[in-house]
Amino acid sequence: MEINIDYKKILNDYDRYYENSLNTARITHSDILPLINEIKGNNLFRVENAGKSIEGREIFYIALGNGSKKILAWSQMHGDEPTATAALFDTLNFFSQSDEYTFIRNEILEKLQIIFIPMLNPDGAERHQRENKINIDVNRDASRCISPESKLLWQIAEKFKPEFGLNLHDQNSYYTAGRAGNSAAISMLAPPFNFDKSINECRKKSMQVISSIYQTLTQFIPGQIGRYKDDHEPRSFGDTFTGNNISTILIESGFIKNDNDKNYIRKMNFISLLSVFLSIATEDYKKINEMDYFSIPENETLLFDLLLRNLFISENGKEFKVDIGINREKKFNLKNNQFYYKGKIAEIGDLSIHHGIEEYDLPGYHVQPVRIFEKELKSIDEIKDYEKMLYNGYGFVKLDPFAIDNDYTECKINIIPSYLKYEPSITVDEYANLSLFWENQVDYIVINGFIEDISEQKKSILNGIVIS
Ligand SMILES: [Zn+2]
Repeated sequence: MEINIDYKKILNDYDRYYENSLNTARITHSDILPLINEIKGNNLFRVENAGKSIEGREIFYIALGNGSKKILAWSQMHGDEPTATAALFDTLNFFSQSDEYTFIRNEILEKLQIIFIPMLNPDGAERHQRENKINIDVNRDASRCISPESKLLWQIAEKFKPEFGLNLHDQNSYYTAGRAGNSAAISMLAPPFNFDKSINECRKKSMQVISSIYQTLTQFIPGQIGRYKDDHEPRSFGDTFTGNNISTILIESGFIKNDNDKNYIRKMNFISLLSVFLSIATEDYKKINEMDYFSIPENETLLFDLLLRNLFISENGKEFKVDIGINREKKFNLKNNQFYYKGKIAEIGDLSIHHGIEEYDLPGYHVQPVRIFEKELKSIDEIKDYEKMLYNGYGFVKLDPFAIDNDYTECKINIIPSYLKYEPSITVDEYANLSLFWENQVDYIVINGFIEDISEQKKSILNGIVIS
């Protein structure tokens, strides 16, 4: 059946389906429980308890549709990758409404049977960590199946016998789609089932469906769709399922500049899911040459959060021109439910093939590690004028250890417990704390990977770190 879908119009109407209670920054089991309970009352869906996590959190599956083609979709097998979970609930909202898109719903529900497992790893989600409670990466446990989460996914697959699997993840922001500077907003993979990366009928179908998603997404994010590296990983679900005749499609939610809350990526996930369902329901994917898959640009890790170009460092009285690439790792603090960052130097040298989400070209500038303000403070409140400290090249203060209760600080300066010897340095893997000089004046300062132009009022330092 020929169906023409106006995805741009659907995106305009997205607010109707957007699940307001979910925030893509972090989604936990208690966030989805009320939504699951609501769905239980809707006879469109069949909701069942699929099993329990190590800490006893219930893992659910939600089935819909009465067709013959079967799809199994799961999200958040990595606890800190919640974007697709939000998109799954948006998709369920789409199905439970009736509007001018009912012809789409009918087509999907008649031709397909879909099982959704939102949040396969609720214990990891609770801690906002990739692994489960016993620190096993569930996506490296497909063959040994030690974790209940892995066992459960296998059991559902064996019972349901899906033709297709949708393995939904988030990837970090450092991937580009190809070698140009565009971040990869969505990356996809048709996992190989052997080290030769052979293409059999099963993998061919994954490649065709991915090419069809690519066609749809190109309307929205041209140049920002990547093909994930296809090295065979025999312990992962995608590769294992593909080897067991389930055509698996990995969809990674990446990064778009100025979309820090990942709302746009979430919408792209929804559009991808709809595109998968429709191309399988209508069998449109069969018309696509599977080799089109290889024309999707491959992911490269060429992005830094902050890239400083053409700086001089001094060593032994000599000057060297370098670029400095800095990444900020986003961490979650369970004590106060806050995100914070640890900014580190990732690479030094010729970074001309790289790109920065933020970039500064600073020819003629000299870079030095920040200074330590040596007088011990009893409380961080003793600092009255941060600006002045930064202006003078200070990036660390020494603090009474009894006044320290965390490994980061909301202040825009870093902290060293006063008993500790610490020497800031310009070193790979070291915290990124730099002052950038023009002649003898500090014009820019980097604190914990965040850069601030001293002459501007714009405040960009989100948090400092506490050295331990
Ligand atoms: Zn993942």
